[in-house]
Amino acid sequence: MTQPTPPRTDVPAIEIAGLYKRFGDNEVLKGIDLTVKAGQVVCVIGPSGSGKSTLLRCVNRLEEPTSGQIRVEGIDILDPEIDLDKVRARIGMVFQSFNLFPHLTVLRNLTISQRRVLGRSKGEAEEIARANLERVGLSDKIDAYPAHLSGGQQQRAAIARSLSMSPDMMLFDEPTSALDPELVGDVLDVMRALADSGMTMMVVTHEMGFAREVGDELVFMDDGMIVEEGNPRDVLANPRHDRTRAFLAKVL
Ligand code: ADP
Ligand code: MG
Repeated sequence: MTQPTPPRTDVPAIEIAGLYKRFGDNEVLKGIDLTVKAGQVVCVIGPSGSGKSTLLRCVNRLEEPTSGQIRVEGIDILDPEIDLDKVRARIGMVFQSFNLFPHLTVLRNLTISQRRVLGRSKGEAEEIARANLERVGLSDKIDAYPAHLSGGQQQRAAIARSLSMSPDMMLFDEPTSALDPELVGDVLDVMRALADSGMTMMVVTHEMGFAREVGDELVFMDDGMIVEEGNPRDVLANPRHDRTRAFLAKVL
């Protein structure tokens, strides 16, 4: 089996400095500085419209920043010369909507990009897919179509698909927000196990329990800025800023 290059641990996984993003007249990110170390889980919370998704999307350049710096494993990803596909292959992303290909079985959903983007053989891609389906508890759904899975199963399949690309880090944008409450726990359990395995993760979430128990850092964003960050237990128990307090009073 092809061994992916191990993640670098001598540099931060993600280093964001002075990041600005504007859509027309709307300045959405107003000078974000944030470092995610290898193996760290950083949770990002904040009101709707505060720029959380835009921040995450800038990290793999689904959005073009207006100005600032972003380094991924030491590489300046805003350098026009870089091979963006190579950078993106190291960063897995899971969205609120699961985005599985509806016309493909779970197995094919997990193998198609491995074969097309990474050039893995059918056998190797399937072996990796099986291992990742087992990891998320979906081995019995390998031949099912997405429409026959619950929302929670679809999201776990989407996570397994991302993992099958052997990323060094994972970005999650409200991965449980579209799920019925009784399906949230299974997805959070998978994410917790992933964190325990040492995966570097940036997680936008409204699940404060997850942030408290799994997060190494908690970042509170409001109006395009990081208002407060620190140890999740400290931030949740003793928020220092009025805006953090007001937000937590609504969600806790
Ligand atoms: P959050 O994820 O915290 O809810 P977003 O990053 O999605 O916030 O959005 C922040 C702001 O940026 C909002 O005002 C939103 O309308 C705006 N925005 C996001 N994406 C786009 C886009 N592609 N074009 C124009 N405005 C956008
Ligand atoms: Mg969002």
